[in-house]
Parts: sequence; structure tokens; C-alpha cells
Amino acid sequence: MSAARPRPRLLRVLRIAERTPQMRRFTLGGDDLAGFPRGSEGAHIKLWFPDAAGETPLLPGFGERGPAWPEHAPRPHVRTYTVARIDPDANEIDVDIVLHGDEGPASRWALRASLGDPLGLAGPGGPNLFQGDAQRFVLIGDPSSYPLLYAVIAKLPATAQVDVLIEVPDASEVQPLPPHPRLNAQWLSRHGAAAGASRRLLEAVRRLPWNGAESVSVTLAGESAQVVAIRDFLAAERGVPRRMMYAVPYWKDRWDEDRYHDERHRIMDAFDEAAV
Ligand SMILES: Cc1cc2nc3c(=O)[nH]c(=O)nc-3n(C[C@H](O)[C@H](O)[C@H](O)COP(=O)(O)OP(=O)(O)OC[C@H]3O[C@@H](n4cnc5c(N)ncnc54)[C@H](O)[C@@H]3O)c2cc1C
Repeated sequence: MSAARPRPRLLRVLRIAERTPQMRRFTLGGDDLAGFPRGSEGAHIKLWFPDAAGETPLLPGFGERGPAWPEHAPRPHVRTYTVARIDPDANEIDVDIVLHGDEGPASRWALRASLGDPLGLAGPGGPNLFQGDAQRFVLIGDPSSYPLLYAVIAKLPATAQVDVLIEVPDASEVQPLPPHPRLNAQWLSRHGAAAGASRRLLEAVRRLPWNGAESVSVTLAGESAQVVAIRDFLAAERGVPRRMMYAVPYWKDRWDEDRYHDERHRIMDAFDEAAV
């Protein structure tokens, strides 16, 4: 049934806020947001970016077999983002976009967009972000997954032990986390080095105390090489079962999303098959 598929929505930029030198928060809204699910912070969304900020992206219809595009029409660029905040009463959604330069259509749009500019959105969707019955939660990421990690912390019970490890390009990218009584947060700077070659997160994960008896839910997302190395370490050396891990490579150093998309799915499928 196509009715279950979230329909594409055309939204407009209502507000823009500088979170850090390399992250900008876009508040998007409009009547088209009506019906977007409350409480979906942390969920995946697809955004359709036009070639140039200010242009209106063409949106697909949704048929029985997924997105249906008009023939011969130029399609917008599709990228995956996270619901940072949703306020259905105000018809507003916040999305935090990493500004990493001009070469990617999403980052390029985010560097130039102004109030009133249109953007396409579909979703929300995605797997479970954490396992609610765990005793301890280990959250690992980078600026691209900051909205995810923020949303997960905000949903966790006050009794949970929470360890958060976030790698940033430099100290100016550190951001506030939600208050939590048992939160142990470490921000690791890679001092401008390339994300794909960095081992800082993996080393910090190795140093985390791990008591085998506890049940641990892992939420892990960020640069591909780092996510794969940490995921494999946790599975092999710490015995974390697949069902206790949300482990999603969000982007790959020096690869654009059009080239990386299929590899991401191969990486995730291979992990699922290994767990069977
Ligand atoms: C489920 C999911 C949720 C996500 N949520 C968010 C989110 O909330 N906020 C967010 O900012 N990103 C998020 N991402 C990551 C985002 O989709 C990618 O970073 C995407 O590649 C950005 O597209 P682009 O057009 O800017 O760059 P692309 O055209 O894909 O890439 C161009 C170049 O930029 C590099 N690049 C891409 N992303 C980054 C980055 N983050 N830092 C440094 N260099 C980069 C690439 O390696 C490539 O060399 C999410 C990804 C997934 C899968």
C-alpha cells in the first residue's frame, strides 16, 4: 500500500541559526509539514536540494513502487539528514547541516540558503536508534551524527548510564548536550586532520571500561572508515551483538553520497549477514 509511504513535502526556510563555525541549523516549515510525527527526533529524513539555493526542487510523486519522477525532468540532489527537533503544533522542523565546503550540493545549499528558500523533504524513517531495555548506553559519533546522539540522550531514562564519545575537527565544534544525571561525555579533537584516517574515536572506545555482565546498547554513526572499525571492534572484542547496535556510516571521506550510497548498504548488509 502506498498510503504507508510518507509523501514528499515542500518546505521553506523559516529561520537559520549558526550552531558552530561548521554547523548551521535550519528551521523548515509550512503547511506541507502537517501530519509529521511528533517525537521523531533522531529519525532519518531525505532532503531534496535544488542545484542552487533559492530554486524550487522538483519533487517526485509516490506510487506503489516508490518515488515516481516525471520523465526527462532534471532531478534534485537527494541527501539523508536527521530530525533535530520537531514541533508539529508550530509546523516546524529543525535540521542541523554540517558545512564542509562547496563541493557537495547539500553543504553548498546550506552555505547560501536564505529565509524563504524552498527544500524538499520525505520521511521520517530508519531503524531503532537504541535498545530501550539496556542498562548502559554507549553513543559514538561526529558532527554529522550530533543531532542523532542529542536526540537519543534526550530520550534515555535518568537511571541509565550513558557514555558519549564525539570526534570533532577542532574544539570550536563542541556543542551542548542534553542534561542527564549519569552522562559521561568526551569530545575528541582531531586538530584538523582527515576524518577517514583518524583513530582517535576507536582508541577512546578501546579505553572505555567494559564490564561484560551488563547489557549495552550502542548508537554509532559518522565517517565510514571509523564506523566500520569501531563496529567490528565492539562486535569482536567486546561481544556486542548485532541487535544491540545501531551502526550506520553516515558519510565517507573523499567520496560523495552519489558514489557512496550503494557501498553503505553493502557494508550494513554484510554486517547483518555475519550476525545471522
Ligand atoms: C541516516 C543519516 C543521517 C544523517 N544525518 C545528518 C545530519 O543530521 N547532519 C549532517 O550534517 N549530516 C548528516 N548525514 C550525513 C550527510 O548525509 C552526508 O554528510 C552527505 O554526504 C552530505 O552531502 P553533501 O551534498 O554535502 O556532500 P557530498 O556530495 O555527499 O560529498 C562531497 C564531499 O564532501 C565530503 N563530506 C560529506 N559529508 C561530510 C561531512 N559531514 N564532513 C566533512 N566532509 C564531508 C565527502 O567526503 C565528499 O568528499 C546523515 C547521513 C545518514 C546516512
